[in-house]
Amino acid sequence: MKIARVFAHRVDLPLKEGRYSWSGGKFVEVFDSTIVGVETDDGRVGYGEVCPLGPFYLPAYAEGVRAGLKELAPHLIGLDPRELAVINQRMDAALKGHPYVKSGIDIACWDLLGQVTGLPVCALMGGRFGESVRLYRAISQESPDAMAAKVEGYRNEGYTRFQLKVGGDPDVDIARIRAVRALLSDTDRLVADANTGWTQHEAMRVVRAVRDVDVYIEQPCLTYDECLSVRRHTDHPYVMDENIDGIDMLLRGHADGAMDVVNLKISKLGGLTKTKQARDLCVSLGIAMTLEDSWGGDVTTAAIAHLAHSTPEPLRFTATDFNSYVTVSTAEGAPQREKGFMRASDQPGLGVTPRMDVLGRRVVDIS
Ligand code: MG
Repeated sequence: MKIARVFAHRVDLPLKEGRYSWSGGKFVEVFDSTIVGVETDDGRVGYGEVCPLGPFYLPAYAEGVRAGLKELAPHLIGLDPRELAVINQRMDAALKGHPYVKSGIDIACWDLLGQVTGLPVCALMGGRFGESVRLYRAISQESPDAMAAKVEGYRNEGYTRFQLKVGGDPDVDIARIRAVRALLSDTDRLVADANTGWTQHEAMRVVRAVRDVDVYIEQPCLTYDECLSVRRHTDHPYVMDENIDGIDMLLRGHADGAMDVVNLKISKLGGLTKTKQARDLCVSLGIAMTLEDSWGGDVTTAAIAHLAHSTPEPLRFTATDFNSYVTVSTAEGAPQREKGFMRASDQPGLGVTPRMDVLGRRVVDIS
């Protein structure tokens, strides 16, 4: 079996809420997502998806996915897509860095491996832990009252994990955290994600001001060293995200005791193969995880579901159902949230079938 063609579709994913806002005044209203197809010489097609959180969240942007695919694809034609390590080695040899570009191809090859073996990706990634995967809901940055109202609404839909987008004015952020925590039950979990938005002194003020509140603090500052310094001055459970972009930073964070939870985003790490490596390491080290991606639709959500469902429950802090945030469905068979939970498909591969009428023409097509 050989890769005969790599292609991609561009799809717009508008947000149901109209806008998603986070630290520093950053926001997105319509996500620009890329659905990647890897076609074999016997006519099978595997799919992946890459959707940056705008061009200003991680070093990734939507048009960069398509440009990178054109650069990479000629190096992959003729390789066996089932040989994930060989595929990843070739991608790293052909293009230095740019993990998000490689992510869609890697996910598509896992989809193919599942189709060929007749197994769902979660079985190939270690097996299915539990009946379903508990989800969190990200709450776009607004006024404290507006965010509290959103949390109340999503709580009524079954979510029990909430991630507040803070990282704005520290005094307003303190009010956001207090307003939301006040309406949650003791068993609900609340995370305040500053997305690098606080300076170190601002972060120190916030963690001190909410010392009595049951809240996790996530990626308060821009640099790893700033986050580590804040971590050493607080006893809140601590989550690292943006700075943990590979195995080296994961190991450094573990050695420094820099976090209790780490957010593993598939495209940040370069695909399912590399995220599985990080996931398995976290399991061995006892670091809990949020399994997710930067953003995406049905294909991304399916990939997250397989990754999360194959992660042991004690270390599976939470995961994300991005397809429920957007108005467009790009594939049949994707996980659908039920009362704050989702489950990975039992079908071979990712278990999704793209809606070709939604995807439109190919914007990348290399054979
Ligand atoms: Mg985060």
